[in-house]
Amino acid sequence: MATLKAVRGTRDLLPPETSLWNRIETTARAVFARYNFGEIRTPIFEDTGLFARGVGEETDIVSKEMFTWEDRARAASEKPQSLTLRPENTAGVVRAYIEHKLGESGQLQKLYYIGPQFRRERPQKGRYRQFWQIGAEVIGPPSAGSESPLRDAEVLEMLATLLDEMGIAGWTLELNSVGSAADRARYNDTLRTALEPVVARMCVDCQRRAVTNPLRVLDCKVPEDQPIIATLPVIADSLDEESKKHIEAVKEALDAAGVVYTLNPRLVRGLDYYTRTTFEFTHGGLGAQNAILGGGRYDGLSEAIGGPKAPGIGFAMGLDRLVLTLQAQESDQKSAPPQVDAYIAPLGEGLNAAALKLARELRRGGLSVELGDGSFRLKKSFESADRVARKIVILGEDELSSGILTVKDFATGTQTKVPRVELTEFLKN
Ligand code: AMP
Repeated sequence: MATLKAVRGTRDLLPPETSLWNRIETTARAVFARYNFGEIRTPIFEDTGLFARGVGEETDIVSKEMFTWEDRARAASEKPQSLTLRPENTAGVVRAYIEHKLGESGQLQKLYYIGPQFRRERPQKGRYRQFWQIGAEVIGPPSAGSESPLRDAEVLEMLATLLDEMGIAGWTLELNSVGSAADRARYNDTLRTALEPVVARMCVDCQRRAVTNPLRVLDCKVPEDQPIIATLPVIADSLDEESKKHIEAVKEALDAAGVVYTLNPRLVRGLDYYTRTTFEFTHGGLGAQNAILGGGRYDGLSEAIGGPKAPGIGFAMGLDRLVLTLQAQESDQKSAPPQVDAYIAPLGEGLNAAALKLARELRRGGLSVELGDGSFRLKKSFESADRVARKIVILGEDELSSGILTVKDFATGTQTKVPRVELTEFLKN
């Protein structure tokens, strides 16, 4: 029988690597708390229409990367529904914002999420079909200040802090403005005109995009198209006064806070909902998939999916890529698995039950404990213990009746007799 394997583009995460994942998530939660963000958990699948309308039909994500299926009706009263595994989480958060009328509080909503996303991409290092994102959104009615450039700068400053605290060294922040919806419409016209004489020499995707949504030509990754793309007009020249003022204010606040950025006029991001500020943090150590995180403003997204006016800004960072970056930085991460405080070695199967009782006492006392098995010979117990624990506790008939246990410290090689009542304290030191 053929062996079953994890599906292409998905993978199992195993210890000790998962402890690095947990460390990153713990740091993220701690930083989000300091910036007063609360956690939101939305479903892993949504109505397909949410992504079609929210992310945009012509984006790569919606046009070719979604895992979509027809959910059959199970009763005459039900209708079949097209469902999709979420390819990103912003649309889901904004859907929840609308559904729960969060805007009616009049306050800014500051929400973060941590969870898996799904895209049917060509798998390679740093690119998976199930991958994890940590993201956050600041969204609310304009009266709550949701359009203020201060919000953009604060999110970017938080990201700089977050990456620093996670220990990611040497990141670069790239910044741009894609303007308001009206600016983008103007830029799309400009691009359409500029593309007319050259598009015949470009890839088929670009030929289609040039007609349907010229902005998406800038997402093209085909190497032969890049020299042509480099000659196209930049969006900065299509921005109106308001949009220019907005990005200038973001830059001014970042300068004041000492957050370093570079301007990238080609950074338009692959999702249709972005307006004004767009950004990406990249890292040289990641190779071709060098974006650790991306985000931007989405002032019209709520209205696009049937909600009230609710400007917002957010980002999503790839947890898989954070892990790859940190692993490259700390190459010893894998070779040194964490050790538990003690390994309990019962000397004989008759002592197994007493060993479990002792393990329970120590664990309740806050120690990490690995429990051996009395069917092991003493030599095997020592070998097993040496691999996983700092100390071994021997539990034989004598130890059980006398209440004096034998403890060996592997680092120093010393053996000590310890009364059971003092054992927890002894092992902690
Ligand atoms: P995006 O919404 O495409 O801008 O994605 C935001 C971040 O998620 C990227 O910067 C990556 O770090 C991460 N990401 C996106 N797609 C994938 C993928 N297929 N595999 C791993 N990480 C991804």
